[in-house]
Amino acid sequence: MNPADSGEKSEHLFVGIDVGGTNVKVGVVDDNGRVVADTSFPTEQQKGPEFAIELACSTVRELLLQHELDYSQVLRLGLGTPGPMDIPAGLILTPSNLPGWRNFPVRQTLAQAADRPVTFCNDAAAAAFGEYWVGGGSDFSSLVLFTLGTGVGGGIIVDDVSIDGAHSHGAEIGHMRIDSSDSARICSCGMPGHLEAYASATAVMLRTHERLAAGEESILQDQQSPTPLMIANAASSGDAMAIEIVMETADYLSDGIACLAHVIDPGVVLIGGAMNFGGSDNDLGRTFLDRIKTNVRRDTFTMIAENLTIDFAHLGSGAGFVGAAGLARRDYWRSRKNTSSTTQLS
Ligand SMILES: [Zn+2]
Repeated sequence: MNPADSGEKSEHLFVGIDVGGTNVKVGVVDDNGRVVADTSFPTEQQKGPEFAIELACSTVRELLLQHELDYSQVLRLGLGTPGPMDIPAGLILTPSNLPGWRNFPVRQTLAQAADRPVTFCNDAAAAAFGEYWVGGGSDFSSLVLFTLGTGVGGGIIVDDVSIDGAHSHGAEIGHMRIDSSDSARICSCGMPGHLEAYASATAVMLRTHERLAAGEESILQDQQSPTPLMIANAASSGDAMAIEIVMETADYLSDGIACLAHVIDPGVVLIGGAMNFGGSDNDLGRTFLDRIKTNVRRDTFTMIAENLTIDFAHLGSGAGFVGAAGLARRDYWRSRKNTSSTTQLS
């Protein structure tokens, strides 16, 4: 059962902090996955990481005050940041959208400022864990999340564990190679044929631009540079080229999903991020999802094809801080369990 549905409030609180290039999202989440309070503030990355960390800590205290809660209830914090990172060392390395944060010991700095232990994680892994804990994956023991935005990000959770890899670079699912032809598109990472070069919002806009530049007929010809939302609207109004763009995106994404389905055999695959073509609330989104399901069913082993759930993500932009708090909660209860078993042994 989804813990947030249990109706019980918990005294134990965990804080999730999701650092992005534009905003920092902060949330206080209870032991059942219920969001008690949340807010966000501009990252102002030119002011450096210390500024954002101090502001995150004072924001948490303000949120608690507003809700008449005490800081002593906060047991642990979770911090999600963009990569690349060194998770065991607690370092954020060379994030492209946070240039002032290079090689910064972010976990230790936050732990000192907050006077609490901190679980450090990749922001996409945090979003995946949020969905796994209280979102679209809460009925499953394993999950893969694809996030479609500027790039293609994602996370893989198996039995409470985020697959971060030996070098904190696991689950880079946007960089699976889906095209090995000589004409493969070049990914933002510089390598050819990666999923991100085909199914990200950036790729969708580029593919649309190429077809319009070639003179293809479409109502989008009137637009300077159509966004995914404009493309989705054109597709919803029956524009043949826009429909093809959306369905091709489903086809590319399906290649990545089928590949991972054979590797992970997850209970559920979720599709999240800003570009979801309307999600499950409209016909286009449902058609997009159905196309993916049909393709993946065709392209995977029968046992997987018949049992894999594929859906849109449920939590929206709050998934990152909820998941960061969830990972903190997991580590808190694990450390308690270890402490008590050590005590029993001695
Ligand atoms: Zn790549």
